[in-house]
Amino acid sequence: MTIVREDQDLALRLYRAMSLIATFQEEAEAAAGRGEFRGGYSNSRGEEAVSAGVCLAMEAPDVLYPGLHGIGDVLARGSEPRLVMAELFGRATGLTRGKSGRLHMSDVQRNTMPINGIVAASLPLAAGSALAAKLRRDGVVTVCFFGDRAANEGVFHETLNFVGLWKLPILLVAINNAPPESMEPLCEHNASGSLAELARVHGIETAIIDGTDALSVYRQASEVLQSIRRSPAPFFLECLTYPLDEITREETVAVLEGLRASGQRPSRGELRRRISEILAQKPAEWWTERDPLKKLEAEILKSAAAQETELATTRSEVRAVVQDAIAFARQSPDPPLEAAVSGVYRE
Ligand SMILES: [Mg+2]
Repeated sequence: MTIVREDQDLALRLYRAMSLIATFQEEAEAAAGRGEFRGGYSNSRGEEAVSAGVCLAMEAPDVLYPGLHGIGDVLARGSEPRLVMAELFGRATGLTRGKSGRLHMSDVQRNTMPINGIVAASLPLAAGSALAAKLRRDGVVTVCFFGDRAANEGVFHETLNFVGLWKLPILLVAINNAPPESMEPLCEHNASGSLAELARVHGIETAIIDGTDALSVYRQASEVLQSIRRSPAPFFLECLTYPLDEITREETVAVLEGLRASGQRPSRGELRRRISEILAQKPAEWWTERDPLKKLEAEILKSAAAQETELATTRSEVRAVVQDAIAFARQSPDPPLEAAVSGVYRE
């Protein structure tokens, strides 16, 4: 989407938010790989435009239920990178005092509800928040992120039926990162053809958008949030993205056949190394089409909203923020033993 003059600031805000998400995740993944914290890390690379586009369009009282790999959603909503990193490290200074780690992190001050480690399990909780807002008539909208796999869970359909019937003020953000050429295309685990189709049968209005285009995600989300605020009703936004750490199935099969033909055992590590090599050889246009950051960068430069030097400055500022967050997390103490029994129940 082209950047018009009044969107120049917005484009740069999105660029900063998305750079933070990408860099934070890269460093968090590296730290997990070095064994600096337990529980590992799953990146949501390729989904930065959805996290930033939707969260920047939300208003302060709105309630967020991040996705399963929703660290990017938490960051886009404005949580302190230092506290998010310290939480991943399980430190006492973390967002939830080191008690939740990656899969249950929350930031109550920002109305960011806990990430949920169970696929689709945030959906009924988000419906509860939306029901509360409808009863209070306070104009708050609940936003719930989830992935394409969530649509195969029973609770997905129960929730859609409920929010559709009760016309609850909720924005359902479905991230579909299963395009036909991917390793796990949607058609192999869901016969509907699109996730939005599943929402329509529950009487919910839907849109399918390019989830790699941050400006269109922002515009669509702003419009929908305003409309939900005016007259409460659920909306289902299906955002199409690409899994950026993957090659196509055909390419993967070719790699495996090549390894077997040369008598090598196709180990996970070796396959990962080959995939990285193939990805590194992809031309710039391939990335511009799929990588939300590269796409926005190209649009910013094309429309002269900023020069490359300004973008480079943003990138280095963001890297400094992330490095500071890592240093903060490393220096922070573990929670004391007594903390295990505090904050478990409301005190
Ligand atoms: Mg997926």
